[in-house]
Amino acid sequence: MMTTCPECEGALALADDVQTGEIVVCGDCGVDLEVIDLAPLALALAPQEAEDWGE
Ligand SMILES: [Zn+2]
Repeated sequence: MMTTCPECEGALALADDVQTGEIVVCGDCGVDLEVIDLAPLALALAPQEAEDWGE
């Protein structure tokens, strides 16, 4: 299924059998997105562990 990245608004393709809680990566901006709901489909930014986020 197709959806839109909440970060960059680029088109994002999800597997048809995507599960709640699954992490998907946006191919456009590279952000990690968590599937928080399926009906309707909702995505949220996943917690990042990138180095430049500090601690
Ligand atoms: Zn994106």
